[in-house]
Amino acid sequence: MTTKTSNVLQTLAELGVSGDAQVPPLFAELRAEFDRDAAAVNDEALWKEFRDAWLGRKSGVLAHITDNWLKPAPPELKRAVGQALNELRAHVEAVVEARRAAVEASAEREATARERVDLSLPGVRRPIGTHHLIQQTFQEIARIFLSLGYTVVEGPEIETPYYNFEALNIPEHHPARDTMDTFYLDLPAGAPPRLLRTHTSPMQIHVMESQQPPVRIIVPGRVYRRDNPDSTHAFAFHQIEGLAVDTDITFCDFKGTVEYFVSQFFGPQVKTRLRSSYFPFTEPSTEVDASCHVCGGSGCRVCKFSGWIELFGAGMVDPAVYGFVNYDAKQLSGFAFGMGVERFAMRKYGISDIQLFFQNDVRFLRQFP
Ligand SMILES: [Zn+2]
Repeated sequence: MTTKTSNVLQTLAELGVSGDAQVPPLFAELRAEFDRDAAAVNDEALWKEFRDAWLGRKSGVLAHITDNWLKPAPPELKRAVGQALNELRAHVEAVVEARRAAVEASAEREATARERVDLSLPGVRRPIGTHHLIQQTFQEIARIFLSLGYTVVEGPEIETPYYNFEALNIPEHHPARDTMDTFYLDLPAGAPPRLLRTHTSPMQIHVMESQQPPVRIIVPGRVYRRDNPDSTHAFAFHQIEGLAVDTDITFCDFKGTVEYFVSQFFGPQVKTRLRSSYFPFTEPSTEVDASCHVCGGSGCRVCKFSGWIELFGAGMVDPAVYGFVNYDAKQLSGFAFGMGVERFAMRKYGISDIQLFFQNDVRFLRQFP
């Protein structure tokens, strides 16, 4: 209670009020003071203090007026005081309620502002995984052959010696088996032998057994060899096998397909060279070389200063293979190839160690988003 309102602790007689005309100015002064108090209320704690100061049952300003002004007033003043007090009470109650609503609304606005989500702020970036470089290279090679009308087939990693060797014209004791040191499965005595395929070529036989020509397939997959791991060898790596068989496929078709593929994969400036080679299931057999995409053929570390890079083995399908799948070797011709996926990725991206593909070190993987 301020010093001004402290006059409500006195009686009208003590304040020197003796006539009706002196009552309204007294109340007008109180009302002006009340309005000033009300304007200063801006939070809930202040509002409670303000409400109790004016409306408190025992010591509120209005209670004091009732006790000190109205009750002891002489009969001729009672009417004027009662009327003015009612008017003031109505005003005080209305304003106290209005201030309560205003304080609550502003508190709510503040809370909303505090909790508001700013949609213009940058979000938290969560790392999203990408395909492994091996998978990316698979997809890149597959895309090129799909555009040429090939389809993708996959096959089992566990094979019989027949599909992995014999049907591909690699009989037992054939020296080609020595170059593909093989993992055999440890099976109970008497069980037919099983092995982890050493190449994706067995799928050539599976497909030709189940389907009549024309055949145009690529076979991506993992293969296994008992190599000593080093920067160019691993126990398990990836190949893409390719096979095209039809009634009129020539060596020119083979050469054209190879050249198209290499230029699509490494770029149009890269030239292709076929070098005579030997594989049991192709005749003639070739190694496909590409001009070095790093130095353009003038010689660098990547091509070991030869200007050429060895890419993959390929050739025309050996007619002997058709005999294993009951294809008519006199009517049919075709070509096959087997690409090492790691080798392609290493050549293209200048990776010097095949082991990097299998260590799953994110510092390596992140370089190929
Ligand atoms: Zn080079």
